[in-house]
Amino acid sequence: VSHPKFINASDADYADSKQRDRALQAIQTVRQQLGKTYQPLIDGEYVATDAQINSLNPSNFSETVGQVGQISVEQADRAMEAAKTAFLDWKRTPPTKRAAILHTAADLMTQRRDELAAWMVFETGKPLNEANGEVSEAIDFCRYYADEMERLDAGVAYDFPGETNRYHYQPLGIVVVISPWNFPLAIPTGMTVAALVAGNCVLLKPAETSSVIIAKLTEILIEAGIPSGVFQYVPGKGSTVGAHLVKHPHTNMITFTGSQEVGCRIYADAAILQPGQKHLKRVVAEMGGKNAIIVDESADLDQAVQGVVQSAFGYSGQKCSACSRVIVLEPIYDLFLQRLVEATRSLNLGKADHPSTRVGPVIDAAARDRILEYIDKGRQECELALEMPAPDGGYFVGPVIFHDVPPTATIAREEIFGPVLAVMRAKTFDEALELANGTQFALTGGLYSRTPSHIEQARADFEVGNLYINRGITGAIVARQPFGGFKLSGVGSKAGGPDYLLQFLEPRVVTENI
Ligand code: NAD
Repeated sequence: VSHPKFINASDADYADSKQRDRALQAIQTVRQQLGKTYQPLIDGEYVATDAQINSLNPSNFSETVGQVGQISVEQADRAMEAAKTAFLDWKRTPPTKRAAILHTAADLMTQRRDELAAWMVFETGKPLNEANGEVSEAIDFCRYYADEMERLDAGVAYDFPGETNRYHYQPLGIVVVISPWNFPLAIPTGMTVAALVAGNCVLLKPAETSSVIIAKLTEILIEAGIPSGVFQYVPGKGSTVGAHLVKHPHTNMITFTGSQEVGCRIYADAAILQPGQKHLKRVVAEMGGKNAIIVDESADLDQAVQGVVQSAFGYSGQKCSACSRVIVLEPIYDLFLQRLVEATRSLNLGKADHPSTRVGPVIDAAARDRILEYIDKGRQECELALEMPAPDGGYFVGPVIFHDVPPTATIAREEIFGPVLAVMRAKTFDEALELANGTQFALTGGLYSRTPSHIEQARADFEVGNLYINRGITGAIVARQPFGGFKLSGVGSKAGGPDYLLQFLEPRVVTENI
């Protein structure tokens, strides 16, 4: 099968009334389906479980989106055995055939775009427009990694007179994918399909709060033709089942996206050789950020205000790439702050399924309480510039802005993962860059400036995996802004980029004397 060169999927265009109506219709259809039960998929069968959890709608927590069966440790072991057996055939399946399955999955996601977006709206409180973009990203991961595998499959011939030297790749074996809830479809899809197309078997353990969406991804992968045992959907508690899968002697690789705390735990657990284990585990861990945008005195303020508001409060600040610090140069500090507060005040806060909502709820009660604690801490350590009221009935937190935040303040150092923005003052551009680099993270960063020397300095010295100049710092696109950080933001190469698949492969060289 030959496919045209990779092209990014287009979002649905809600300015077109037909497409908008379809999306709104899907919201109604999915609303009728709330409350169903979803079972794990082990060795090609949906299985009953002793435990279940209710996944709630964060916009309206009296509504259950679905009940999700939670696997036991014994069921996790069964899934491991099934994966081991399935690997024997899957690793020999030609990469072109594996890639074709990913293209079929992408086609199915395209057909189900509005429905998938609606599930994200209900299960994770993601406003429709952002959910729409996320479906595109999931489709892109399928198509891009499919093409990447076909590229890598060619291998390299380092032949020499008298001998052939063939460099090629083989899969690792069993990959445990552990995903977060904040990009509930795109991130797990990307990690999963990369591992699969490379010839590995995958056990996907989603975040507890976004397991229904992964039941939908499971339906799609089955329909696309993934064989039994090659992909298994193993929802369960992170600290028990997740930790067990990480430590399992059959696990060859763990691909994790989530918090720094859990990522560091997994990195350490994976390093311990278990009885019977004959290999070292590979760990890819994409973790948090404390991302900053610098606004200098030459910046286009209209652009800067809009970019900061979108980057800080889009999906209620619950993106690893979100802006949580804005560092403003002295000459424009007061003017920028005033305009930032005004622009934020105009954001529409409400239920995610309402088309005019710009800022929806946060994911759950624990997240809301944690964010409110940070806001209290902020009040003790800094000055409030804005605190917006939050509606009732869901896990809402109104956007909050603190000003003149010192670099020592808790809210200037720790990842809050909510709609809380710290505005910091800098006297010089050097100081601004020093403040920006002054955390343990290095994920995304931004600069608004029309000064070429500042732009050059930021390119060289702003310590982030993804730097954005004169635009917002969220919304990376596959094969355009390959995404990921370093320092304590993570280990591994960039998702949606040319090195990503290599992590799931073992290179070999066969030399033949002729
Ligand atoms: P989390 O770390 O709480 O949970 C992530 C996953 O780990 C879940 O599936 C959870 O069940 C599982 N888990 C928990 N304890 C475990 C254990 N001991 N062993 C194995 N698995 C375990 O993160 P979250 O709240 O779901 O996601 C938010 C975090 O993710 C933020 O810190 C955010 O910055 C980060 N994130 C990073 C990126 C990136 O690309 N760098 C992208 C999205 C989110």
